Amino acid sequence: GQTDMDCDVLVLGGGPGGYSAAFRAADLGLKVVLVERYAQLGGVCLNVGCIPSKALLHVAAVMDEVSHLAALGIDYGGAPKLDIDKLRTHKEKVIGKLTGGLGAMAKMRKVTVVRGYGSFVGSNHLEVEETSGTGQEKTGKKQVVQFKRAIIAAGSQAVRLPFMPEDPRVVDSTGALALKSVPKKMLILGGGIIGLEMGTVYSTLGARLDVVEMLDGLMQGADRDLVKVWQKLNAPRFDNIMLKTKTVAAKATDAGIEVSFEGEGAPAPQTYDLVLQAVGRSPNGKKIGADKAGVAVTERGFINVDLQMRTNVPHIFAIGDIVGQPMLAHKAVHEAHVAAEVIAGDLKGDAALAKSAFNARVIPSVAYTDPEVAWVGLTEDQAKAQGIKVKKGLFPWTASGRAIANGRDEGMTKLLFDDSPEAHGHGRILGGGIVGTHAGDMIGEIALAIEMGADAVDIGKTIHPHPTLGESIGMAAEVAHGSCTDLP
Ligand code: FAD
Repeated sequence: GQTDMDCDVLVLGGGPGGYSAAFRAADLGLKVVLVERYAQLGGVCLNVGCIPSKALLHVAAVMDEVSHLAALGIDYGGAPKLDIDKLRTHKEKVIGKLTGGLGAMAKMRKVTVVRGYGSFVGSNHLEVEETSGTGQEKTGKKQVVQFKRAIIAAGSQAVRLPFMPEDPRVVDSTGALALKSVPKKMLILGGGIIGLEMGTVYSTLGARLDVVEMLDGLMQGADRDLVKVWQKLNAPRFDNIMLKTKTVAAKATDAGIEVSFEGEGAPAPQTYDLVLQAVGRSPNGKKIGADKAGVAVTERGFINVDLQMRTNVPHIFAIGDIVGQPMLAHKAVHEAHVAAEVIAGDLKGDAALAKSAFNARVIPSVAYTDPEVAWVGLTEDQAKAQGIKVKKGLFPWTASGRAIANGRDEGMTKLLFDDSPEAHGHGRILGGGIVGTHAGDMIGEIALAIEMGADAVDIGKTIHPHPTLGESIGMAAEVAHGSCTDLP
């Protein structure tokens, strides 16, 4: 076929995976073409994910904090007034700053950004159909990019339940982030991080929440001790937390969206002003002509890769949400660097670079709710299920000077150490979790400890500054190895 452009590396998708891969490949001296269907780089994370949600959650957290001040002698008087247009503008400015920065960085590195929808047409060719406007309207103009290597970073999209009516009162996370108005009564479908984060924003702005979850607990993946603390503190936001319950039908009425439930916690049908679907994300593997390049895609749309992020086709790589769980931006970025390095090593004959591989022991997760919940490595339930004997170090924040001074001593830091006989009482850290304000900012230390193979003495004897919330990590380690004598 005819080729309009050629390159060393073609990157399909401009999210955290795609732009990180493109930038690293360009920094390593390769000629890079980055294909993105939207006007702005950044993907889900910057445009409709991590960043806009945190911009809104920050505002919600400040509002919640201020609402507690009256009890401490500072009374602003009356209920806060919401100017929703201004709040939305703030969020859009935050996005603009970051995505604009990415555009500038791409230019600086001489990465060629091609705007359009990409589809493989052969094992070394991608056809790009130009898109326009802020969205992905197709202009009909097509061009073909020839590549030596390709990195697929086409990401994922929200799962839609088939029986949900097509109605502006039914949204996914993107619709919720658009922040059109604040509903009186809102249903969150799915008790995972995304649903609970958006629920936090809307409830602080005035919505009453219901949440429905098929499994037996909210925030699956997190240690139950942490979730218990979160749930107790967040109970006032909810009218009903329905566990082991399924949504089975829904219809649009004048009064709202009427939803029917089935299962253990199922009430009679309820009517909501807004229904947020947050039941998971599905990878875009089936929408990129992968078969034309010979790339295998699973039934669910994932693309399997090896530790070097190679697909079944040796010169085509894949990274980010499209290769599997956990669907998190920091995972995508690290995978991106591996793919770019392996390719550069290969094309430039650099044996060391060519050996790059993704071998993270652990990947942290954070729910940026209030309080935050952050975890990494094994949970107590997982250790039990795997038959691993663990020693716990639990540090309640009621013993943290800083947490008390902050008026936020409801938190807890929990560390788990290997207590198998082979560890001889000096077992390495296997996992940890924190529930409390700023938990997400602190979890990196526990991840580092796991990567370094630290034991309880290493962590407990590391001097943490006083008074900080981070001290709670050192204290939890001391509790585990039994030398913390000054607990209340
Ligand atoms: P994506 O970000 O999905 O990017 C893929 C890009 O490819 C998109 O820009 C898309 O337009 C483009 N594309 C796809 N197909 C084509 C095609 N055929 N042609 C051209 N372009 C194409 N993760 C965190 O780590 N922390 C958080 O706090 C967090 N919060 C989140 C909040 C929400 C509401 C959501 C929805 C997600 C959140 N995530 C968070 C997850 C995070 O956004 C994803 O893990 C991350 O964006 C994945 O990066 P990616 O590069 O794999 O794909």
